[in-house]
Amino acid sequence: MREWVGECLDVEDRKQSEKALRQLAADLSDADRRKNEFLAMLAHELRNPLAPIRNVLQVMRLTGGNRDAVASAVEMLERQVNQIVRLVDDLLDVSRISRGKIQVRRERIELVSAVNHALEAARWLCNSMNHEVNVTLPTQPIYLNADPIRLTQVVGNLLNNACKFTGKGGHVWLTIEQEGGQGVIRVRDSGIGIAADQLPRIFDMFVQVDTSLERSVSGLGIGLTLVKNLVEMHEGTVEVHSAGVGQGSEFVVRLPVMVETPKPLTPEPTVSEPLRTRARRILVVDDNRDSATSLATLLELTGNQTHTANDGVEAVEAAAAFKPDVMLLDLGLPRLNGYEAARQIRGQQWGKNIVMVALTGWGQAEDRRKSKDAGFDAHMVKPVELDALMKLLASLSAKKERELI
Ligand code: ADP
Repeated sequence: MREWVGECLDVEDRKQSEKALRQLAADLSDADRRKNEFLAMLAHELRNPLAPIRNVLQVMRLTGGNRDAVASAVEMLERQVNQIVRLVDDLLDVSRISRGKIQVRRERIELVSAVNHALEAARWLCNSMNHEVNVTLPTQPIYLNADPIRLTQVVGNLLNNACKFTGKGGHVWLTIEQEGGQGVIRVRDSGIGIAADQLPRIFDMFVQVDTSLERSVSGLGIGLTLVKNLVEMHEGTVEVHSAGVGQGSEFVVRLPVMVETPKPLTPEPTVSEPLRTRARRILVVDDNRDSATSLATLLELTGNQTHTANDGVEAVEAAAAFKPDVMLLDLGLPRLNGYEAARQIRGQQWGKNIVMVALTGWGQAEDRRKSKDAGFDAHMVKPVELDALMKLLASLSAKKERELI
């Protein structure tokens, strides 16, 4: 009798595990299909901005630097490059999220200021689509304990989608308000809407309602996944509402407000003007020659003296001969990597006071710790914006000068 029961259970167990295995195989093949679709979409999305960049370069060559042609070319290059930077940033962020490595740097912030940055960034897209944007802001400031950059990213993604998925001349509404202990961000549009059966999966990775080649909007299907993850990292929630296709959509983000009584916001440290404009001797080191020369040219145009090197050994030799005030050093370099080059330079008497900045594609906490240990003063992730770099150099030089006094 006992044996018979045992066998029955065995059969039942086997059936259960077979079912689980079948489910697992189906899930894996679904994930695999979505990943393949995603890679195809990625190639397509990267090609999109590259085609106009190539065209514009050709135009510049053919027009021989004609002023008007260059001015409009520059604007277009800027827009397309920004689009690529955004794509790559989003990609890095999702991969960090899936490895649990994304960082949130929380501080006391005012919600409207983060929202304003996102609005500024979305302005061009809204204008080009001829949308009317209605913004409703709270009368009282709403303070949150949040990462301002991540929050701007959340609102920026939602605004971007609202513009993208709404036909020309539509409406976008952005409302910020406080409801009880929550700061609430609502982004609503009069656009294409979302079918009821798509709503539950809209925040999943790689999900796009329309994946046809003819679709009129760009994107990778990772923006909403990022939004959801970033909001949840702030103990918040995000919901989507839509009455259906053609009925517009609304995304609502709720974040806990800070309870403590607000202290006045500390003003951003200001950089003194004379330092910002002071000419410096700058050594730029990058094994990508185009990267090194273009950054050096930019720095020369803003009044600095520059020199370039393309590997670690060359960097140490050039530093000894050129005696720069500042070194911008890539980390992955042939012959001698950036960390080692920095260490060797710091080991020399003449190298102690050089302002050394790591310019690299790696920006995780571990990379920053390693560059600090090697003697770098700062760590910036490529591609850097000239303005941000100049501000950093001004504040670092001021710090070094104070240390010398
Ligand atoms: P992407 O915009 O890159 O496709 P997202 O993750 O931001 O990726 O959005 C996923 C999908 O959700 C979009 O492809 C679109 O089908 C749908 N979606 C997002 N926002 C809206 C919106 N405001 N109106 C209609 N559909 C939207």
